Amino acid sequence: MLHYSCDQCGKDLSAGGADRFVLKMEGYAAGAPAELTDDDLDTDHIEEMAQLLEELEESGTEPDLPPVCKKLRFDLCSACFRKFLLAPLGREPVSKFDFSPN
Ligand SMILES: [Zn+2]
Repeated sequence: MLHYSCDQCGKDLSAGGADRFVLKMEGYAAGAPAELTDDDLDTDHIEEMAQLLEELEESGTEPDLPPVCKKLRFDLCSACFRKFLLAPLGREPVSKFDFSPN
């Protein structure tokens, strides 16, 4: 029997499965071609990409470049799934930030 637990809070989700939500995320570089064609293999293009990546590395803002495409899958309990929907990027909505001076 497959065992499922919430990837966020660790809650046991094996029983029934009614409380289990599967979250699939796919991230990819918007500029990357979905399928490689002969044009994409053009040397100039590859050099251009390499130069672009070098510039990114030199800028220091992205020391660890993410992979061009990444698929993630999570099992979540209903509570964590709801929390995710409220803050998909792991933070509160900007409007909720409190800038009141102290
Ligand atoms: Zn959970």
